[in-house]
Amino acid sequence: MNRRNELINAFLDFLVPHDCLICGQEVSGRQICANCHDYLPEVKPPFCQGCGRPVKDKIVCPYCRSKSYIDRGRSWIIFAPPADRLIHHFKYRNKRSLARLFGRALSLIVRSDHALKQSDLIVPVPLHWWKQIKRGYNQAFLIAREISQECNIDIADILRRTRNTRTQTRFDPDQRRSNVENAFALKKYDIKDRKILLIDDVMTTGATINECARVLIEAGAKSVCSCVAAITPG
Ligand SMILES: [Zn+2]
Ligand SMILES: [Zn+2]
Repeated sequence: MNRRNELINAFLDFLVPHDCLICGQEVSGRQICANCHDYLPEVKPPFCQGCGRPVKDKIVCPYCRSKSYIDRGRSWIIFAPPADRLIHHFKYRNKRSLARLFGRALSLIVRSDHALKQSDLIVPVPLHWWKQIKRGYNQAFLIAREISQECNIDIADILRRTRNTRTQTRFDPDQRRSNVENAFALKKYDIKDRKILLIDDVMTTGATINECARVLIEAGAKSVCSCVAAITPG
């Protein structure tokens, strides 16, 4: 779907009442009702400096104690009910207009974060081309594009997935790491000394984002930060 059709769809969403994606109550002009929006489980400090995951008393979460290429990570909501339903609609039910909701929330985080707001290039985590053809869009790119517009930071879709990695849902952290190892490559693009902000929809152990960051750092990026819509509690 091109940008024009997306705008038409967003306009129709605005005009035609539909059901809140979380509670099912009728709502118009937005994807979820004000009540559900207020109760989204937002990540509150203290959070891990490496990925933005909530932590109790430590500075880094268990996943970020091993080698990380991410300078700083932030996240918006906890990937647990009811927020996981939003992600499900966004990824698997073609609710691409949710990119607006995620993009706006992440833009607020980026603009208020001392490190993330210094970024000069936004890069979405890529899908494998075959998955993107089947889904019709890369949900991370849609969020990244919203943030780029809201925060006035360039966006470049410069990573590609070289392997169609297996779904990681049932993998432990070590399996996740080896599943994404060498699964990304940089397209022909000069990122020397750029301060990059990686964007994705969901982070679990952080193995995917960390592997993307490794490729960017090894290609000369000055720093890599990350911002994701939803993160597992740990
Ligand atoms: Zn609702
Ligand atoms: Zn962490």
